[in-house]
Amino acid sequence: MNSRIHILTTEVANKIAAGEVIQRPASAVKELVENAVDAKATSVSIVVTGAGKTLLQVVDNGEGMSPDDARLAFERHSTSKITSAEDLDHITTLGFRGEALASMAAVAQVELKTRRAEDEVGTIVKVEGSEVRGQAPAAAEQGTSVAVKNLYYNTPARRQFLKTDATELRNISDVVTRMALAYPEIAWKFVSNGEVLLDVRPERAEERVKSVLGDRAAAALLPVQIEGEAMTLGGFVGKPSYTRKNRNDQYLFLNGRYIVSRALNHAVFQAYEYLLEKGSFPFFLLFLTLDPHRVDVNVHPSKMEVKFADESAAYRFVLGAVKRTLAAHDLVPSVTMGGPSLHGASEGRAKLSFLPSEGRMGAHGQVPDEVRPVEKADLDALFDRLGSERQGLALPSEADPALPNRFAPKVLQHNVRSSDQLPQPASRAIWQVHDKYIISQIKTGIMIVDQHVAHERILYERARANFTNALPSSQQLLFPQTIALSPADFALVKELTPDLERLGFDLKPFGRNTVVIEGIPAEVRVGSEEKILQDLLDEYRNNEHETTMDVRENLSKSYACKAAIKAGDRLNVPEMISLIDQLFATEMPYVCPHGRPVIIKISIEELDRRFGRTPVPPTTR
Ligand code: ADP
Ligand code: MG
Repeated sequence: MNSRIHILTTEVANKIAAGEVIQRPASAVKELVENAVDAKATSVSIVVTGAGKTLLQVVDNGEGMSPDDARLAFERHSTSKITSAEDLDHITTLGFRGEALASMAAVAQVELKTRRAEDEVGTIVKVEGSEVRGQAPAAAEQGTSVAVKNLYYNTPARRQFLKTDATELRNISDVVTRMALAYPEIAWKFVSNGEVLLDVRPERAEERVKSVLGDRAAAALLPVQIEGEAMTLGGFVGKPSYTRKNRNDQYLFLNGRYIVSRALNHAVFQAYEYLLEKGSFPFFLLFLTLDPHRVDVNVHPSKMEVKFADESAAYRFVLGAVKRTLAAHDLVPSVTMGGPSLHGASEGRAKLSFLPSEGRMGAHGQVPDEVRPVEKADLDALFDRLGSERQGLALPSEADPALPNRFAPKVLQHNVRSSDQLPQPASRAIWQVHDKYIISQIKTGIMIVDQHVAHERILYERARANFTNALPSSQQLLFPQTIALSPADFALVKELTPDLERLGFDLKPFGRNTVVIEGIPAEVRVGSEEKILQDLLDEYRNNEHETTMDVRENLSKSYACKAAIKAGDRLNVPEMISLIDQLFATEMPYVCPHGRPVIIKISIEELDRRFGRTPVPPTTR
């Protein structure tokens, strides 16, 4: 049969989200490249002149069309991709509306040349303002070439609404970028006014990121590959050190289609928790795959908005998947002394632009290397050294008897390097300065830990764990404390009692506005229970206006903040080691629950540089 394309019945056509398809040159490019992908092309090139207003042409090496189809393709609601209304429930192609070519032909002069593999000669069709101007056999490569000339030539008013060439070209570039990122197995070429802006062969996904977005983006990728029951998430998220001040570098594809979803973008953002500085946005290139039955793409003519059958399930899945990915990597920032800020490196990246004045895609300037992670080897070496010293030397304990087992991991049992059974270590490898920071030598330099936020992170995760699974570990007080609260706080305590119990508090109401504290979480120091409870309630109240924080999140944060050791608390060596041990047993050791960094690293190179010492090989240093 020589025709795959058919005209949809009015009934089906009426079910399709109506609206204008070709709003600007970029929309025409989008529709044409989508057709190329649907035709299983392995090579696609896009040529534009005058930002697509004069000419835009897409050439692919896909399946091509028969002469009959080539002509039918220009009819309204003509498509080979769906037939019935039911087909709309499980769309697997990028196109399905059958309107793109018809809409283009209504507002431009369109020339389509195509040949299928099985045909010896191809065909050429010319359509102008919806009128077919002619069709003839023509020599043609296998595949399809569509040239759209003088867009809006017959609607001058429309033409006036177009933006400057620079803006329209940027819009086209965005379309090409997305497609090139989504389909690394396809070769893409993009030429504007004779200048090649992109030319990439089929390659692996991470190589594609490098060729399209540059080295710095490629260096910041954390691969994501999480399979759930109903969906999978693949692709990459950027390290927190690689951020932008806007959302430009966020790519989300659903079943191969670029989509804009506020909810899912938020899920990714949320997964970074406090890894990001305020006002900065993470890079991501994520591919969500799910059963086409579970998503409706027929909600908007641009097909960029979709409706999920269960959006909150998708939200939770994406949030969890990205969180797991981030937690699996060491993300400690490293500082250059005198550098702008921990996260400042993001500004160093050259703007991605296809504009001729700014050079071709992928050509980026030198980027300062201010932020580097502590390598895993650093930490392993640290723990090795601490470990051997623990066993080697049994120096007299420096432990302050007033601080017994303060960080004993009574609840968070997955800590592998439980240090409290080990002999006392030497004080050589780890120091406390100003009763505030812990400094330690690591293989590639020094590491500085803020003791308060480190402990906060540990307690926060313990609290979260208590709410979900672990049994609270509580210590019964020998002398229960009776505390008088304000009526409001008393009411709050009553409201929160079940959750406070999960944290390890054992509270009994006792007459008017009074509670008796009979037990406290294991890590709370006896004697400080009254203050901690009161501080916790205050903090909880302060957080209450944050609508995104649920009760338990708020309680965990408030508790962690108030029960953690403070700057000014003196620690002995076993306590420091225990603190660091447990810190690295947390899921996210690098930031506290409020977003402050917990650890920073200064590399030996940076110290050498600062002291005017030329770096030398370690053996002769
Ligand atoms: P849709 O993509 O929604 O079906 P279009 O107007 O974009 O509608 O295209 C109409 C039909 O023309 C498609 O269904 C397809 O069969 C055919 N077609 C369009 N572009 C190409 C192409 N590049 N290669 C092969 N067939 C194409
Ligand atoms: Mg189409």
